Amino acid sequence: MTHDLVPRPLNPAPATPDMVWPNGAKSALFVGFDVDAETAWIGNNPSNVDRMVTTSHGGYDARVGIAKIVQLMDELAIKATFFIPGWTALAHPAQCESILKAGHEIGHHGYLHKLPERDKLDAAFEEIDLGYEALQKVLGVRPIGYRAPSGENFPELLGYLAKSGMRYSSSFRDDILPYRHAGGADHAGLVEIPVNFAFDDWNFGMTSRTSSRPIFGRDAVLQMWIDEFEATHAWGGVTTLVLHPQVSGRPMRWYLLREFLLYVQQKSDVWIATGEQIADHYAAQEKARGV
Ligand SMILES: [Zn+2]
Repeated sequence: MTHDLVPRPLNPAPATPDMVWPNGAKSALFVGFDVDAETAWIGNNPSNVDRMVTTSHGGYDARVGIAKIVQLMDELAIKATFFIPGWTALAHPAQCESILKAGHEIGHHGYLHKLPERDKLDAAFEEIDLGYEALQKVLGVRPIGYRAPSGENFPELLGYLAKSGMRYSSSFRDDILPYRHAGGADHAGLVEIPVNFAFDDWNFGMTSRTSSRPIFGRDAVLQMWIDEFEATHAWGGVTTLVLHPQVSGRPMRWYLLREFLLYVQQKSDVWIATGEQIADHYAAQEKARGV
């Protein structure tokens, strides 16, 4: 594959419109969890499937993490979005059902958490199809939100997702407000609810023998999250969380997340919403503008 390096904006999405959040809110909080389970460890490294200790990082989701996160959302009365790879749903159906039963939104997160690659379109599309099939089979759900496994995307995949009925993506790092991706002749672009990588708990709370990194404790992460949230709030943006039960379902990080969410909930002018609610609101605003 040759690479087109001609200078141009690499994301051709039109400019982001102004946002008026519902009920007089000044900003929004989107609580998103990626329920990778073992797929984070085997999707891009299949030989790890024979390494029980390595994959046990992901096994924490099913044994502890998912239940603790669902319990926390229940305690705080927050509806969140859980992006679940198809493999996770098939491997841990009871735990995934508990998420659905608690009233949360189920999102698409690929099948085996493989990095989508533009020179392997068939494989990238198959990940999408298999993910839909598994969520339909186990949960009876056809998700309308997608978070890219391993955080990658490209034009053909965005188009494939839009044509499959997906309505929003939450993966890109290039804005603080939702915007709409460029569409094609036969489809409208997805709504993007951009993420802020400072809110990806994996960066601060995951380390392993094969990818050994420093991890950061409560004071560092809580203060950073509060500061970043307050600044995003002042700018009227959306604070999008990229959390993983195998990270934020760990004891200290669970309390840290709880403290952060309680901090946000103290404010009366933050709209805490699922991805679907934010995408719906964005579409309603487009309609009101006559787009
Ligand atoms: Zn993931």
